[in-house]
Amino acid sequence: SNYSKEEILKKARELELEFIHLQFTDILGVMKNVSITIEQLEKALNNEIMFDGSSIDGFVRIEESDMYLRPDLSTFVVFPWTHHAKEARIICDVYKADGTPFDGCPRNTLKKVLKEAHDMGYIMNVGPECEFFLFHTDERGEPSLETHDNAGYFDLAPIDLGGNARKDMTITLKQMGFEIEASHHEVAPGQHEIDFKYEDALRTADNIMTFKMAVRIIAQRHGLHATFMPKPKFGINGSGMHINLSLATLDGKNAFYDENDPMQLSKTAYYYLGGIIKHARGFAALTNPTVNSYKRLVPGYEAPVLIAWSASNRSPLVRIPAKRGNSTRIEIRNPDPSANPYLALAAILKAGLDGIKNKIDPPAPVTSNVYHMDEVERKEKEIKSLPANLYEAICELSKDEVIKEAIGDHIYEKFSNAAMYEWNEYSKYVSQWELERYLRKF
Ligand code: ADP
Ligand code: MG
Ligand code: MG
Ligand code: MG
Ligand code: MG
Repeated sequence: SNYSKEEILKKARELELEFIHLQFTDILGVMKNVSITIEQLEKALNNEIMFDGSSIDGFVRIEESDMYLRPDLSTFVVFPWTHHAKEARIICDVYKADGTPFDGCPRNTLKKVLKEAHDMGYIMNVGPECEFFLFHTDERGEPSLETHDNAGYFDLAPIDLGGNARKDMTITLKQMGFEIEASHHEVAPGQHEIDFKYEDALRTADNIMTFKMAVRIIAQRHGLHATFMPKPKFGINGSGMHINLSLATLDGKNAFYDENDPMQLSKTAYYYLGGIIKHARGFAALTNPTVNSYKRLVPGYEAPVLIAWSASNRSPLVRIPAKRGNSTRIEIRNPDPSANPYLALAAILKAGLDGIKNKIDPPAPVTSNVYHMDEVERKEKEIKSLPANLYEAICELSKDEVIKEAIGDHIYEKFSNAAMYEWNEYSKYVSQWELERYLRKF
């Protein structure tokens, strides 16, 4: 909904709101909050709220730390879950003191790439499938790895005990303006998915951040811990965040659909696909940004390993769902919910636009389950793999000028330094697995 400043002030008075949370997302995908009282709202709506950027990890240097928050009025939402005081939030863009957009704000970054697409005549629509686990908490409220159910894919109550929590989440999200398309139990015990309708990429990135916040809060109310960690348990499926996407022309037509093509896909769709295949190794660090992300991207658990596409099969990186006409879309299957949605979508869009600009043809589609494809066949078809771990992904990102341009120098530097630090910490750690393997053997 598109509110004016006056409408928001009026609504805030009518609803007797007490607190407004000015939200933005940092480079690592963590939501940040500057909370103000209702008396400050007008000032906030006039873009006059300042905060100290140097207090946020890796945001800015001390000497340029005065940052301004510019609320996006269309993101005003009242929290449905607060009991004592009524609270609302507005998502903000981060601006510098000189009035220009701050390079380290991922939302600004996505907007820049969306503008580039718009200048080429396209709007990007995105529908994410965000999976998560619900785990029990212990007496002290700390999350465990115990699940509350033994249900499987699409199972119904009474075995799906997380169903109540999920129902509550769905209701809450609807109250916050989400259009929920489906919600179901996923393959692994304790694993769930709630799908909301696609929207333009900026709105969807905002929605993903809001979704994660709401799911965590409602889980807590049910004594559960919701985690978006990509692979919390060895031996069962991890949590992905498939990105369904299509381009629309500025007059609202699906630019991926062409009824005359054998697969009913347009040239634009093929080139976009070509760009995705070309840059998949480069953008993996952004779509799969944690050490743990790469433990999901292994054969056998419905997550992709090989950089290929298929119209029929769910094992490669990209699937083309059967729907055509206005629903023509591609599904990118490697992203996971630990990704910063603004940066992940900026990178994916930039890869596709590169394909369109440079008319990059995608390879032939694969038709078989690529998990079963042997080394020889892969070599023959020149099918590459996604990076095997975070280190490989950081190296690939450093070599991909198109993806680096998508996120800009400031974010590239901060992001890759943080990822490298993470990798180094992990590399030094001696794990249980190693002790079990080597302690007796050597
Ligand atoms: P799956 O079959 O992979 O489980 P889901 O049905 O769970 O897929 O999710 C499909 C997602 O695709 C939804 O978020 C939906 O809104 C989105 N979607 C549908 N049509 C389009 C489109 N034209 N462009 C982008 N996303 C779309
Ligand atoms: Mg799904
Ligand atoms: Mg489905
Ligand atoms: Mg799923
Ligand atoms: Mg899917």
